[in-house]
Amino acid sequence: MTAPLTFIATCDLVALTRGRSMRTDDYPMRRTAGVGWVPADLALTTFGDIASPNPFGSLGDLRLVPDDAARITLPAIAGRPETDVVLACIAEEDGRAWRCDPRTALVDALATLDEAGLRLVASFEQEFTLSGPALEPRGAPPFSLEAHRAAEPFGTELVHALQTQALAPETWLPEYGDGQYEITLAATDGLAAADRAILVRALVRDLAAARGLRASFAPLVAPDAVGNGVHIHLSLWDRAGRPVTLDPSGALTGPAGSFAAGVVAHAPGILAWAAPSVISSLRFGPHHWSSAAAFVGRQNREAMLRICPMPTLGGGDPLRAANLEFRACDATANPWLALAAIVRAGVDGLREELPAPHVLEGELEDVPEHERARLGIVPLPGDLESALAALEADEVACGWFDPDLLATHVAIRRTELELLRDVSPAERCERYARVI
Ligand code: GLU
Ligand code: MG
Repeated sequence: MTAPLTFIATCDLVALTRGRSMRTDDYPMRRTAGVGWVPADLALTTFGDIASPNPFGSLGDLRLVPDDAARITLPAIAGRPETDVVLACIAEEDGRAWRCDPRTALVDALATLDEAGLRLVASFEQEFTLSGPALEPRGAPPFSLEAHRAAEPFGTELVHALQTQALAPETWLPEYGDGQYEITLAATDGLAAADRAILVRALVRDLAAARGLRASFAPLVAPDAVGNGVHIHLSLWDRAGRPVTLDPSGALTGPAGSFAAGVVAHAPGILAWAAPSVISSLRFGPHHWSSAAAFVGRQNREAMLRICPMPTLGGGDPLRAANLEFRACDATANPWLALAAIVRAGVDGLREELPAPHVLEGELEDVPEHERARLGIVPLPGDLESALAALEADEVACGWFDPDLLATHVAIRRTELELLRDVSPAERCERYARVI
């Protein structure tokens, strides 16, 4: 029997899981030092080119230092051996955190929230599209039992792997789009939630490939397809462990109101991290149930921040279930950085003691255009260049991360804009869907 391998990985600026492996037998002895890594790897675009200019060039050496709390085992299926995947922080050779490490960026963002006396609990809800001859029957109706069965045995294997590895699956469902599915996990602390989002993508892609399916998390697999969203559920807790997102009347609490106001105020800057690809903005707009503008809405699926219901059915404490759902993220975003940008914006709202934003109780289309600005309902950037320019113009947002991390991110995405400049929308979607 061959000896299994452990793959030590980072998730980079284009949301790909990249790394190096070692024999699992050697892992206990070698995990403190991790494996070598190269700074310029962070400048890779979705399509494999290295963005230029980037601050790294050919110089430097780093280490991927694994965190055993962020691990998954890809099961042995269909001739593919079992492989452990462990997520890592990127460190300098002497063990100091690398200033551009995306995972450390989230650790640091959460520390600023902690300084404000709050803890974040989160969960990523992820949609993706399955394709390939093994999806049988094709074109099953939305949300149907037939669509559920079409993805077997993949679906049952996915939920089983998540359950046996304590990744707390909640629901597995056929979604609205053709071949579209969604997996949701229980909420946990912010860093673990983002780690799980990365590990779930790895597991989904791997199990799908083992069953002759292709899984794509691309925001759109075709211009007229139903979008694949990544919805981030967020709740705030105080130091005594009490939920402080909503009050018993369902209104945002003082801190949650300021946090949400910060998120709305910095929406364009956040989008440059949370929906950062050339095709991301195609997913937005009215009636897409993704995010039609930057506003907070009660149980409104077109809001950027949706106030989710507080169910009393089942006997749980509704205040503990209360959460806000950030709907404008997609899987071209690095989950650590998307969440870090949201947290930084929220903490800015707390520091500035911003008043709670207007909460839209009805449909967006019932609010006349001329009323929207007064209610703080602002359009999202219409394309990637506008999102990047808005980020660069937002001085506060420019201070959220190391300048080299920001510069590399912007360079990557501008390189992708250039690479796809003369390419049709259909081919743009296809090119992302092949990788993401
Ligand atoms: N597919 C929608 C999106 O792109 C989300 C639909 C839903 O689950 O509400 O975000
Ligand atoms: Mg959904």
